[in-house]
Amino acid sequence: MIDLHLHLDGSLSKEDFIYLLNKEGMSIPDDFPSCIRVPKGCTSLEEYLERFDLPCSLMQSKENLRFVIRSLINRLHALGYIYAEIRFASQLHTKKGLSQKEVIEAVLEGLKEGLIGKKDFDANLILCCMRQADDEINKETIKAVIEINDPKIVAIDLAGPEAYRPSLYYKALFKYALDNKQNVIIHAGEACGNDSIMGAIDIGAKRIGHGVHLSFDQASIKKVKDNNIYFEFCPTSNLQTTSLPDYESVPLKEFREHDIPVTINSDNMTVSHTDVVKEFRNLYLTFNLSKDDIYYYLNNSIEASFISGVDKYKMRYLLNERIDDFYERIIKSHH
Ligand SMILES: [Zn+2]
Repeated sequence: MIDLHLHLDGSLSKEDFIYLLNKEGMSIPDDFPSCIRVPKGCTSLEEYLERFDLPCSLMQSKENLRFVIRSLINRLHALGYIYAEIRFASQLHTKKGLSQKEVIEAVLEGLKEGLIGKKDFDANLILCCMRQADDEINKETIKAVIEINDPKIVAIDLAGPEAYRPSLYYKALFKYALDNKQNVIIHAGEACGNDSIMGAIDIGAKRIGHGVHLSFDQASIKKVKDNNIYFEFCPTSNLQTTSLPDYESVPLKEFREHDIPVTINSDNMTVSHTDVVKEFRNLYLTFNLSKDDIYYYLNNSIEASFISGVDKYKMRYLLNERIDDFYERIIKSHH
């Protein structure tokens, strides 16, 4: 499997929480583990985002940051993933005095430790700016990435409550990233509509997080195609935040009919209680996906990833080797 849209703070395991709560001398909440997952009957993206408070409170030291990324890498590898791009917002982990740069360096170190000795698996990092943050804090995220200049950091993202400010507001911020040779991706068309997606493309996004509310009018399609945009769908998360009412509403067919490439992702393994196998399982049950369809989406993920041409070639080789196994697991997996 491949996951290109995976938030670190939304993907701590139950065991991670217990270990870190004990380590920090904090008691296990009475409503654990339900408090780490999205509540049933969640009514908005804002309510969904509240689920990140506890994990963020535990991710405030270098040691804990290294621990959570290593743990995630180990789990992805154990689940048979071949590649992941893991994202996090360094600005959310400075509450106990770390600078954003120190946060990023700690996660990088943990990533590299986690990857040691893992054959046929690779992962890279994406740094998130936040829509509701002060401009200076977002700029500091990008500045730290530029200074650290590590090939394992592959893109800058924009996350957080989409309705807070329009994508175009961040034009200068992302110009700074683009001028310094950073890839830009943006969460858009999740809680908001087509304008948000078009704005994200206008300010240089190469991939759109979600984007399920794309309009299929000629101008929008042309802009998406001219800019070679890939979309990162995270269906379960969209249902939970009420961005979409049900799996039937996931616009897979519409995007494919217009030949606009979509990738399938989890968003948050713990908060959304999912992984890429489960996402494909739900789509398989809804749309009767064939093995070829699943190959198509996974191959899109390889194309959309920020790895080199040589690494894409290797990834495709691995995908060809594993596709039968992936398909078996999707059609047999329990819900
Ligand atoms: Zn996301």
